[in-house]
Amino acid sequence: MMSGPISTSTTPEAAPVTPPEKACLERYVSRQVEVAGLAVRRALPKRQRRSVGAWCFVDHFGPSGRDVVMNVGPHPHVGLQTVTWLVEGQVLHHDSLGSEQLIRPGQVNLMTAGNGVAHAEETPPNFDGTQHGAQLWVAQPNETRFGQPAFEHHEELPVLEAGDMEMSVLVGSMAGLVSPARADTPLVGVAIQARASSQTELELNPSFEHAVVVLEGSLNLAGEQVVPGELVYLGTDRHRLDVGSTQGATALLLGGEPLEEDLVMWWNFVTRNKQEARQAYEDWQAGHERFGSVSSKLDRIDAPPFR
Ligand code: MN
Repeated sequence: MMSGPISTSTTPEAAPVTPPEKACLERYVSRQVEVAGLAVRRALPKRQRRSVGAWCFVDHFGPSGRDVVMNVGPHPHVGLQTVTWLVEGQVLHHDSLGSEQLIRPGQVNLMTAGNGVAHAEETPPNFDGTQHGAQLWVAQPNETRFGQPAFEHHEELPVLEAGDMEMSVLVGSMAGLVSPARADTPLVGVAIQARASSQTELELNPSFEHAVVVLEGSLNLAGEQVVPGELVYLGTDRHRLDVGSTQGATALLLGGEPLEEDLVMWWNFVTRNKQEARQAYEDWQAGHERFGSVSSKLDRIDAPPFR
């Protein structure tokens, strides 16, 4: 729901891929930003760590006060999938494919932009509770990034229970449980809900690089305490990971095969070069049909100046 802000990248130049590291534990402090009146902790991209697998953008928003209303008007995307997951709250999604979908905690909205899509996201009119969740972007590979847009809503996700933790497989698979959500590249996204005094060992794909973002509470990760406001990069070549919590926690585990291509992220577009980003910018500003039109009472969001 976050409209990718100007500050994602100041210039549309390719940022070199940071080579993946072998099993490690690197802590990156998230950037505090504000999007549509909501406090957001932006965990990715970081200058030193642009992506984790194909995950290239991680916004943790809220928990908001009850009086905060989310109103993100129609805006475009290119070359990425948005993955939305709520801890608490309700968000109403409209897109240029004609989808209208309310998302609630525990569910996944996955929108594939391909060559172009537009969407709007807002607090539903009759809802006045707290908004708390995450919006993530997955960079699409060359095989699909020029393709058709699509939208999926998944109400039920496979849940693994172990050591007083519930692990919902949002995308990809873990311990043989496979998410129904579309994945264009090998990757995994798991929501961990750890009760107080919980402990388990997760089985990881050693060819993936992984990272963890804590959304609430405190998680013990390979012996270190991790709280909201940071991304913990775990590298590749890990077969398992010790996870525990004393007081309880909600967290996201993200992983995937390290990207081998440089991404150019500008505003809401994920491309491979400046020309593609400029074209997407010009097309949105000109109202090009590649983005379709969104049925929404909110105002369309203009792109910032292209530099
Ligand atoms: Mn968006």
